[in-house]
Amino acid sequence: MLQLEDVTVRFGGHTTALEGVSLRVADGEIVCVLGPSGSGKSTLLRVVAGLQDADAGRVLLAGRDLAGVPAHKRGVGLMFQDHQLFPQRDVAGNVAFGLRMHGSGRAETEGRVAELLRLVGLPDAGHRAVAALSGGEQQRVALARALAPRPRLLMLDEPLGQLDRGLRERLVVELRALFHRLGTTALAVTHDHGEAFALADRVVIMREGRIAQAGGPLEVWQRPADAFVARFLGFDN
Ligand code: ATP
Ligand code: MG
Repeated sequence: MLQLEDVTVRFGGHTTALEGVSLRVADGEIVCVLGPSGSGKSTLLRVVAGLQDADAGRVLLAGRDLAGVPAHKRGVGLMFQDHQLFPQRDVAGNVAFGLRMHGSGRAETEGRVAELLRLVGLPDAGHRAVAALSGGEQQRVALARALAPRPRLLMLDEPLGQLDRGLRERLVVELRALFHRLGTTALAVTHDHGEAFALADRVVIMREGRIAQAGGPLEVWQRPADAFVARFLGFDN
């Protein structure tokens, strides 16, 4: 389980990106974070991933306080929109990158890469150049790379951001099935309400660094906690 306890992050004197955020994510749960631009969504992910220090509060993964644990030792996988693939490596080389970093041997790496490419629906793409792949195929490769070290927790920041709507809708259904099959715990940020509600077991709505509402998609949709959430979801009153 991932636990955030009263996490606060400030930038300089006047920006409070997160203000006393507490959140629990159960093992195998998919949580989607929604909220206006600047509400603290990416900062929330970055704190968990170890890319940003908290000014106050604690982050625990499986009961272990992550304070001082460097990003690469947290067992947290990352898939960010701006996370570029390595253009000079082929697909297999990209997926293998994370494994090599974790010290896996050659035969083990090859087997795992093949398994991951099957998993994301690109079983024959290993030797293709990433530049020759479509946007959706590149996203799948990025996903395979993020999943390669078997992260306990996967953080996704606008993972399907650059794709057209049709492809996003298909991939989101695949992602949900894949995560549930693998038992992956996921914390995903998206701007797209439909995407969040299709992917999530639970939805978190942020407002100015705080959680305005957290709950099951249907619950949040049917019973917005306040006027802000209702407006944000597009209800007029
Ligand atoms: P978006 O939907 O636009 O991606 P967000 O919800 O992800 O927004 P954050 O990136 O978490 O928002 O930013 C939250 C607040 O913290 C914003 O006011 C932002 O300007 C500020 N902020 C984020 N990173 C930094 C930084 N490195 N230095 C200074 N201020 C920052
Ligand atoms: Mg962001």
